[in-house]
Amino acid sequence: MAACKLIRSVLTGTATLLVLLTVGNAGPLPQQGQNQDDELQMGQEVFNELKAKGEIVESSPLYDQLTPIAEAITRAAQPRYNHPFRFYLVHEAQPNAFATPGGNVYVVDSLLYFVRNTEELAGTLCHEVSHTIHHDTVTLMEKQRKIEAREVGAAVLLGPTRAHVLAILLLGKLHSLSYSRDVESRADLTGSDVCAATGYNPWGLIWLFQNFKNANIGQVPQLLSDHPNDQNRVEALEQHFQKNPSVFEKFNSDPKSATPFSVPKNAPEVFLR
Ligand SMILES: [Zn+2]
Repeated sequence: MAACKLIRSVLTGTATLLVLLTVGNAGPLPQQGQNQDDELQMGQEVFNELKAKGEIVESSPLYDQLTPIAEAITRAAQPRYNHPFRFYLVHEAQPNAFATPGGNVYVVDSLLYFVRNTEELAGTLCHEVSHTIHHDTVTLMEKQRKIEAREVGAAVLLGPTRAHVLAILLLGKLHSLSYSRDVESRADLTGSDVCAATGYNPWGLIWLFQNFKNANIGQVPQLLSDHPNDQNRVEALEQHFQKNPSVFEKFNSDPKSATPFSVPKNAPEVFLR
């Protein structure tokens, strides 16, 4: 099962993703360079794949709405991560945002149509950069690699670096990454710190949770759908705000104070080729 998953990941990847599997050897993978550089390589491989699939938006009026928020978040988050954060719009059906190791943050265009205010969008992006700051994806993929290696008794040999193998695993799970609730909650808290530092009201993420709970919406962004019972996350955020009044007291918890957010309908998009 796990082997099938791994092989399928390889087959659906680019032609250059050639991995040789050998049965019966679960030894360590060749290590090349620092973990941090592995993150950069993982991020680059995902970028190449999304580009090859024609999903990355090169230019669009949607960037006019996204860029100021992304720049403010980058200013606040960059001191906590050693590769530059870069934000890309991608075209997919499911409203979502996801960050990959190495600093790239992908914002699905439909998310811009989905959020009700600037704070909800900023909260989502602050949450995603926090996964990168915490190295959550690389940790999860490394765990996955160990499980798959044990399950199939296979190791990936002859050439591919650890980063390459982790990137393949990540490509196979890009849209179904499931972090534990604790990992999600930790990204919420760091995300709220990042958002507070930008001046965007960190209550935005809580409003987003509440909107989904109250609304009868078929499409739920992945960052929420894995953990439909978000009350724990909301409570953890509220406690965090209460414990740090000097940071959070100035922000209004009332969604009526939110900054309305809207984007032009059916905005044109030019894709990176
Ligand atoms: Zn998350």
